[in-house]
Amino acid sequence: MIPVQGYANKTLAVLGLGRSGRAAAAALMAGGADVVVWDDSVPARESAQEAGLEIRDLTKTGAFDGIAKLIVSPGIPHLYPQPNAAIAAAWDAAVPVDNDIGLFFQSFATSEWDNFDVAPRIVAVTGSNGKSTTSALIHHILVENGRPAQLAGNIGRGVLDIDPAHDGEVVVLELSSYQTDLARSLTPDVAVFTNLSPDHLDRHAGLGGYFAAKRRLFAEGGPDRAIIGVDEAEGRYLANQLIEGAGDDRVIQISSGRKLSQGWCVFARKGFLAEMRKGRQVGAIDLRDIAGLPGAHNHQNACAAYAVCRSLGLGPKGIEAAMRSYPGLPHRSQLVADHNGVRYVNDSKATNVDSAAKALQAFTNIRWICGGLQKEGGLDAVLPHLSNVAKAYVIGREAADFARQLEGAATQVCNTMEAAVAQAVKDAQPGDVVLLAPAAASFDQYDSFEKRGDDFIVCVNAATA
Ligand code: ADP
Repeated sequence: MIPVQGYANKTLAVLGLGRSGRAAAAALMAGGADVVVWDDSVPARESAQEAGLEIRDLTKTGAFDGIAKLIVSPGIPHLYPQPNAAIAAAWDAAVPVDNDIGLFFQSFATSEWDNFDVAPRIVAVTGSNGKSTTSALIHHILVENGRPAQLAGNIGRGVLDIDPAHDGEVVVLELSSYQTDLARSLTPDVAVFTNLSPDHLDRHAGLGGYFAAKRRLFAEGGPDRAIIGVDEAEGRYLANQLIEGAGDDRVIQISSGRKLSQGWCVFARKGFLAEMRKGRQVGAIDLRDIAGLPGAHNHQNACAAYAVCRSLGLGPKGIEAAMRSYPGLPHRSQLVADHNGVRYVNDSKATNVDSAAKALQAFTNIRWICGGLQKEGGLDAVLPHLSNVAKAYVIGREAADFARQLEGAATQVCNTMEAAVAQAVKDAQPGDVVLLAPAAASFDQYDSFEKRGDDFIVCVNAATA
């Protein structure tokens, strides 16, 4: 645990009692602060009370008297579609609002670091897609190369749950837009922006707000090194804002598909990664047969992880060897079975249309299981890739409407995962890929994308047994 510094004998309020809220309360108390907590959910309050936490209704008049700060969990809207009532009350009471990420950046460095040979460093990864994969890959490469490292944030442990840093350790943090939007301290040593596509638009009042939230990591944080995906205009704009000129290697630009040449850059084209510095190629990796990183989207993640590790002083050979042993993450391009010449791939984390479009580009002859709770913006981004789809098997409460939008593809409305997998198994020919990449959230039928992916695996195992 990272005890939170700077609040001894002060009282802080914690709003939201999920994993991050509970960890924040514990870390604050470990640093000597008093804590009061609140959650709109009665069971969450009851469980916190049983654990000995003091409950205070933060929406009541006077609730913020004597409170030094309000710590908010990422699932709670702080501005759009509407500010949570407790957050609005904190504003009215002039109580600063922050989150666990802000507390972490404020508390991570300690006087013990004076005795270290190499100061610990923080790598923070943000972007619309690929954050978890990139963060896990960076962590894997560091560990394989004998560097002490911890993985935290949205993946691995909560930020305040990690162990205090060792000499020379690197902490890899995956940060969502909700987290970067609210944190009052954001000071990573290396910051990564993978890409941008529409997601969570209701929480940010549109794409501009969503990009602004991610941009804070660079604008407020002033990282020593920024690794920026420049495959969208937003990334190019951000990279341009951070550089002084072509030779400025505080920014490493990365791309999947575009040949880059300015300054320090890493790009992947046709399965080959190239690192360029001052116009010369200084590193190369053939990514095509790296099993844990299939498809151009994962090659973008490979470029980002490569750039981070190079900027931390690792050599290209050590990075390549570690990439080859990267096992992948569950629910992201995860090969779950290879049966009668048919591959079964679980990409349940493709909860938005852009990540599903990327999955459709990574394979051919796809028996595509899709559908669920649709997000704003429609399905247009997948339409250019339907030529890779042999047939779509549509699930979810809105399956018929979803199927209607897939103009030009053979579709079957299956409604449930079980029916979709059974039909796909029946139809599949050797060489086909049965792919779960829903292009939608899971909440109409499941508690989470993990549960949806697990159900896919159960159905595949049952249907191929
Ligand atoms: P995040 O943590 O940003 O949600 P993940 O690594 O968990 O990212 O991947 C989320 C989804 O996006 C998965 O379906 C995955 O296959 C897909 N994906 C992974 N990397 C990328 C990328 N660079 N661009 C687009 N989609 C990606």
